[in-house]
Amino acid sequence: MSDTGTRIRRGDTIRVTAGKDKGKEGKVIRAFPPDDSAKKKKPSRLLVEGINIIVKHKRAQPQANISPAAQKAQSGRIEMEAPLYTSKVALVCPQCGKATRIGVLTDESGERYRACKVCGKSVD
Ligand SMILES: [Zn+2]
Repeated sequence: MSDTGTRIRRGDTIRVTAGKDKGKEGKVIRAFPPDDSAKKKKPSRLLVEGINIIVKHKRAQPQANISPAAQKAQSGRIEMEAPLYTSKVALVCPQCGKATRIGVLTDESGERYRACKVCGKSVD
């Protein structure tokens, strides 16, 4: 396992540190790995519950034979989470509750684990 890319995983709670949702916290639904295959390297992204909500408008097909009100009823708004870059989030430590960076440490048996940079405890 390499050290590059995100250390934040699905199920982690994160706090947004930049952008329109700055300060909000949410649970990671899905972690996308960085895309190194493309020429332009894409950083890793996260899908986070309730964060970076985008609204998609679904427009009803215009029909001549129905009223404007009926047409309006057929259109809708779909709200969904959009992925955000891991550079814009910080992990919320489950031990001390602070937004923190993650360090990777090795225990006595050689097992690597993620640790909170604030309290030093394991966040796995
Ligand atoms: Zn901590």
